Amino acid sequence: MKKKNYKVTIVVPVLNEEENILPFLRKFYDFKKKSKHLKDYEILFIDDGSTDNTLKKIKSLKLKNNKIKIIFFTKNFGVNFAFSAGVDHVKSDFMIFIDADSQYPIKVIDDFIKKWKLNNKIIFAKRIDYKEKMILRFMGFIFIKVFNKISKTKLDFNTSYTCLLDISIVHILKNLREKSKYYPALIRWLGYEISYVNCKMNKRSIGKSKIGMIQKLKEASSAITNFTTSPLKILTLVGIGISTIAMFSGLYILFGALTKGISVPGYPSIFLSILFMGGLQLISIGIVSEYIAKIYDEGKKRPEYLINEKIGF
Ligand code: UDP
Ligand code: MG
Repeated sequence: MKKKNYKVTIVVPVLNEEENILPFLRKFYDFKKKSKHLKDYEILFIDDGSTDNTLKKIKSLKLKNNKIKIIFFTKNFGVNFAFSAGVDHVKSDFMIFIDADSQYPIKVIDDFIKKWKLNNKIIFAKRIDYKEKMILRFMGFIFIKVFNKISKTKLDFNTSYTCLLDISIVHILKNLREKSKYYPALIRWLGYEISYVNCKMNKRSIGKSKIGMIQKLKEASSAITNFTTSPLKILTLVGIGISTIAMFSGLYILFGALTKGISVPGYPSIFLSILFMGGLQLISIGIVSEYIAKIYDEGKKRPEYLINEKIGF
């Protein structure tokens, strides 16, 4: 049985969301009045390097509500690192990570807590009726298909960063020492049971999406290299394939020259040796890169994010 008195930290990443802060908090306060499960809470805004009046807005709202905390990054690090900052600073019984643009209806907090009370430690929001552009949905679909094909860790369709994590899971994530993290997959990599709440999505009504197509592509490729070395292995296999083709073509030409007495002009032998060497080089680069990529990722001992200002701690 869970404790009767519990506290949640609601972690909200924000990047240039000056118009969304007030509507988000209004919706939250309305929800709080009706909520069956929300008790003690704090809201931790992670300002991911906003250049508009987002921080000013949060600071002024904090004056009216001391349950608001703020971490202001020195620059834009990305949602994943806002998640890291949340993980590093949460001390409540559990954390809920939710966007500021109200695309996820705020009542999902109640659904999350209800499940947490039933001893679920990791709960993801499953997006229903996701009103995202076709091209982005298609890209997301392809990414998950490819990721699941080549990685041992499996992602779910229609989930993202929005989730509830019990403090025991938060502690485990905090102690993972790798720098290059992709939380939706990393949380699944832990291997604990995951549960879901369905979440009917809203359209973003105020402001534009802050994560562009290129950013999403970069995140997808970084997620794949974080979780599997398969691309390097594929490169190695390509190298083996090319070398094999070159070797058999060489034998074929040699056989023709010996049996039919065809005079071998200079170019096929040069062509084949280039192909053969190229294939061999790909194999070597493939193997070496596998190690370099690992050392490179872990060797850069840079912090995940840098904080300019911390308020309310
Ligand atoms: N966000 C952030 N850093 C970024 C990009 C986005 O903190 O580099 C925040 C953003 O303010 C929002 C949440 O992350 O609260 C989700 O971003 P967005 O709505 O732009 O993404 P989408 O819903 O389009 O995937
Ligand atoms: Mg959004």
